[in-house]
Amino acid sequence: MDVLPDMEQGPVEQGLRTENERLRRENVALEHRLSAIEKKISYHPLTGLPSHFRLELEIEDLIDECRRREPRGCFTILIIQLGENYSTVRKTLKVSVSEWILYQTGCRISGFLRENDKVFHTRENEFVLLLPGLKGEALASFLRGILPRLAEPHIFAGFSVTIGVSTGAAYWPEHGDDRSRLMHHADVASGVAAEQKKAFVLFRPALLQLAVEKIELQNSIIKAIEASAMERIGEQFFLSFQPKLFVRAIEGQTLVVDRIEAEALIRWRHPEKGLLMPATFIPLAEETGLILPLGKWLLYQCARRLAGWAKSGLERVGLSVNLSARQFRSEDTATVLESVLARTGARPDLLTIELTETSLFEDTTSAASTLERFAALGVRVSVDDFGTGYSSLSHLHRFPLDEIKIDRLFVENLTTNHQDRIIVRSLVSIAKGLDLELVAEGVEDPKALDMLFEMGCRGFQGYLIAKPLLIDDFTAFAEKIIKADMRFTY
Ligand code: C2E
Ligand code: MG
Ligand code: MG
Repeated sequence: MDVLPDMEQGPVEQGLRTENERLRRENVALEHRLSAIEKKISYHPLTGLPSHFRLELEIEDLIDECRRREPRGCFTILIIQLGENYSTVRKTLKVSVSEWILYQTGCRISGFLRENDKVFHTRENEFVLLLPGLKGEALASFLRGILPRLAEPHIFAGFSVTIGVSTGAAYWPEHGDDRSRLMHHADVASGVAAEQKKAFVLFRPALLQLAVEKIELQNSIIKAIEASAMERIGEQFFLSFQPKLFVRAIEGQTLVVDRIEAEALIRWRHPEKGLLMPATFIPLAEETGLILPLGKWLLYQCARRLAGWAKSGLERVGLSVNLSARQFRSEDTATVLESVLARTGARPDLLTIELTETSLFEDTTSAASTLERFAALGVRVSVDDFGTGYSSLSHLHRFPLDEIKIDRLFVENLTTNHQDRIIVRSLVSIAKGLDLELVAEGVEDPKALDMLFEMGCRGFQGYLIAKPLLIDDFTAFAEKIIKADMRFTY
């Protein structure tokens, strides 16, 4: 402590004092800087909401508080993740668009919170909510309010964007007594929701098993595809064929058919798990990159099938094959396509490549050049699941496309949902304007079929016509229509 006046101090003491003072000032400045940094990382710069740094502290506090309360309190941790189309928007549109969407999402969520609820903006596309005392039916009712609000379109000048969300939740204390276990389990639930494109998944221990199974499945897909030569892929994988009919007229329950096609849909006969559908393994094949050899095999199978039909009286029957995003991005695919067409002698104009909107709009420049290569080979290109992803309609006309497939989602509720009818009507007029063929997928209801035809849609695929068929059954199906003078009665 300084008790002596300056003049009575020697030069050493004075030097020490100055040094002390300098250190003190530096300390204060450092503290200011640290608290500014802490403030910065504690809040998301865009939404101003507390970040994941705050989340950890707040969960600890909330757990303490709930433990102290008599009777003991409880809370739910709810993770809201923005869907894949958010990252597409982020990659394809101006930064200000995605920033506005995040800001709006934060506001929409905040609008639903009760006094003690808290929201955190933890990762760019993730918000986490702490909801004291809210579970079971009360949580369900909260979700019934907030989910439709989040699914409302974000309006910009000249266009609007709808962002899908998936949510996962875990309860304290049932699903994890301490912070790290609770957060892990909420994360697992949210991961499953995102993967299975579900609006909401509540944690249950079986979900952990699902993660283990995913790894096991990953190992066996590696074995099935990579282990040996191409021919052996066919020992476990096979194609089923779903009819896709282009219709000229409808007479009651009879369709007058212009053209018959099939969509090739892959199936996996797993040695232990039995028959697996593509939704369970295509994402894995994408993640591991194994979709590339698998896709090569698929293209070869399809071209061979077309060439086979040409020799057996089904020379006008076409075939569609799905191409995943990773395959579409791979430079190799156009080359593979060229070589399988040459090797099999299949007619390119009878082969349709189905791509999703997302793969098309992920990188529009390289998409355009790949599509040009497809067009030069003479194959047709169709945009699958149209209307579910984010479609920049202004880009659509720049691509050499042949067909649009309206997603099942809009077809399903066509007869009951006015909004879906408006969407389908506008898709019909877009397709007309761009001179594209239109196919409705997932047609199950005769009323929907009639309505779609009346609106101007001419291509139909769905259980009303036929489920995916084994190859011999599809051949018989096509032969029967040809014999009946291109008429099909459902
Ligand atoms: P997608 O290309 O949109 O295929 C249509 C899916 O809808 C098929 O499911 C089909 O069985 C189903 N579906 C058809 N009509 C109806 C209907 O009336 N009602 C209902 N509820 N469903 C109907 P699947 O075979 O499970 O295929 C799912 C997705 O897996 C496909 O969607 C496609 O994206 C992907 N996929 C299938 N095969 C392949 C493939 O060979 N390669 C790649 N990359 N993806 C594939
Ligand atoms: Mg498809
Ligand atoms: Mg589809």
